[in-house]
Amino acid sequence: MACTHEEIDKDWLPSDNKLIRKHPYCRCCGKVKNTSSLRAKRMGFFANILSKMRSDFERKGIKITQSQIRLILKELELKEAFDVFSLSFDVQKGLFIEVVAKYIGVSRRSLESYL
Ligand SMILES: [Zn+2]
Repeated sequence: MACTHEEIDKDWLPSDNKLIRKHPYCRCCGKVKNTSSLRAKRMGFFANILSKMRSDFERKGIKITQSQIRLILKELELKEAFDVFSLSFDVQKGLFIEVVAKYIGVSRRSLESYL
């Protein structure tokens, strides 16, 4: 069961650039809140991208099935890729490309162009 996250006071923690800064974090799971300017997106954002990819690729003769899309979204959910509390959009992009490339045989470059 994914944590619903309850933010508590800032604490001194190392940030991405290895400097010790004050960060808010979750009292339940301890995850540090993402404070970068690029906020993470919810599942609907990625579901929209997948349906856009589906129609684009179909025109190029690459078939993406509804069950492939379901598997992709399910695996992303298992990887907690829709955790808008702790993730930055950059981290999400990496997870999205990794999972989509596993299920759909297209280059990472053409996936990146959708994000
Ligand atoms: Zn939490």
